[in-house]
Amino acid sequence: MANYSAVAGSMRKAFLTGKTKSLEWRRSQLLALLKMLDENRDRLTDALMKDLNKCRFESCLMEVDFVRNDLINALNNLSDWAKPEKVKKGLINIMDKVYIRKEPFGVALIMGAWNYPVQLTVAPMIGALAAGNCVLMKPSEVSENVASLLDELFPKYFDTDCIKCVCGGIPETTALLKEKWDYIFYTGNSFVGKIVMKAAAEHLTPVTLELGGKSPVYVDQGCDLGIVANRILWGKVTNAGQTCVAPDYIMCTKETQDVLVEKMKATLGEFYPEGPAKSPYYCRLITDRHYQRVKKMINGGGKLALGGESDDSQRFIAPTVLSDVTFSDPIMQEEVFGPVLPIVPVKNEDEAIAHINEGGTGTPLALYVFSNNQQLIQKILDSVNSGGFCANDILMQGSLPTLPFGGVGNSGMGCYHGKFSFDTFSHKRACMERGLKMESVNSMRYPPCTSQKEKTAAWLLKKKLKSNGPMSYVPYFIFGTLFAVFLKIFFAPESSIYNIFSK
Ligand code: NAD
Repeated sequence: MANYSAVAGSMRKAFLTGKTKSLEWRRSQLLALLKMLDENRDRLTDALMKDLNKCRFESCLMEVDFVRNDLINALNNLSDWAKPEKVKKGLINIMDKVYIRKEPFGVALIMGAWNYPVQLTVAPMIGALAAGNCVLMKPSEVSENVASLLDELFPKYFDTDCIKCVCGGIPETTALLKEKWDYIFYTGNSFVGKIVMKAAAEHLTPVTLELGGKSPVYVDQGCDLGIVANRILWGKVTNAGQTCVAPDYIMCTKETQDVLVEKMKATLGEFYPEGPAKSPYYCRLITDRHYQRVKKMINGGGKLALGGESDDSQRFIAPTVLSDVTFSDPIMQEEVFGPVLPIVPVKNEDEAIAHINEGGTGTPLALYVFSNNQQLIQKILDSVNSGGFCANDILMQGSLPTLPFGGVGNSGMGCYHGKFSFDTFSHKRACMERGLKMESVNSMRYPPCTSQKEKTAAWLLKKKLKSNGPMSYVPYFIFGTLFAVFLKIFFAPESSIYNIFSK
């Protein structure tokens, strides 16, 4: 095992030279990343095929092109994002320069997960580099082909003093977590999330934790269930359900369930006319351990409504739907993270809301509602918190760089994508630059603290509550009238303004 103390030490030394802070360095490393993605598009998609049987279309859409677009967005906006931000000033700061400077934290440790091994390593790295940090990348050892490719490519493209890749499993990660990092960005399960957070606490290192959990779907009555079936199943079969924001389970009335199952049967027939086992567009489970865990879930409750086939030799599990599942069934006790989709019949949305809030599975990473009724969508949005929310579709909330991506409560903390990635990896440094003049005004705060000083300070600093009533318009009305009078007096009476007022 490498000497990680030495690695962390040399990277911090490189950071302290200040070179990563310049926009030129940041841009050059982001462009190197772009070059790496473009020159190795085929190798990356091949590695994804080897790890997950991910087809080229899905690899490009969800991984390589996804991060490429995020990267272009960062390059296009870098100078804007990095600019000091002006803030509002009070009366006593009227002569001061006051701004927020975006500082890199230093050396960031990024730990990726295996299910989107390109996206979950490169996307946070874009934010870390754009913000001027050094990056130590630790890809998941579970997606070994992508991990070894990244390990090979990093030294060929990046400034190796400041950007490194380390491969390895639990012993290596455990050793890495003993070192002091200036930021830790972890994606993975919440059990390891707690290990990461405890390790970070030892050094008071800030963390982002991108975790998982059970993301529910509520399907209202009266929807076009053919469309609902297409969208939910697309979200479930993508990456064979190994997606953190995949629909974990559905809640709907028994009547809706029965029609939905029929529609899902038709959808699967359209998605995979030759059957999912023969389809070149259907992923496999990542490892035997994950495969065995998900296979057990086929018998995790309710009735087998669709699918259920599996093949140990290929780690293949067909898209599977279980109907008439109850909240107490085994499949409802943990995140599925595979292509098995339980449907739990409920009386109405109130029962669904009560389950999400009180059922013990925690605040979901994603919450989905299918309904034509805007009031019902609003009711669920208001009643249940989640990392992200999407009405009438699945996964799509994660595709827009202007929306933050992240969990809350036990689905994680912090967020990224687009500018949120840059902000995550930036310390917002409060800066005030004052002159050495006007000492008479400043002396008000020095002892002796006389009652006259107290009155003056109170007057200068006093904030007033904003009033939203009709009286709040009075000052504008008075100002407007005075302005009109001013115009009338000082401008030529024959002017159009004069004519307006004289009418
Ligand atoms: P994983 O096994 O790849 O682990 C993630 C990282 O943790 C790896 O780098 C691994 O080396 C490290 N690790 C594993 N065990 C460790 C230990 N004992 N000590 C220290 N480090 C350790 O991925 P996973 O945890 O199986 O990922 C699946 C989970 O991640 C699911 O719950 C999923 O919902 C969640 N996830 C969340 C997001 C998100 O963006 N919120 C994205 C993908 C996955």
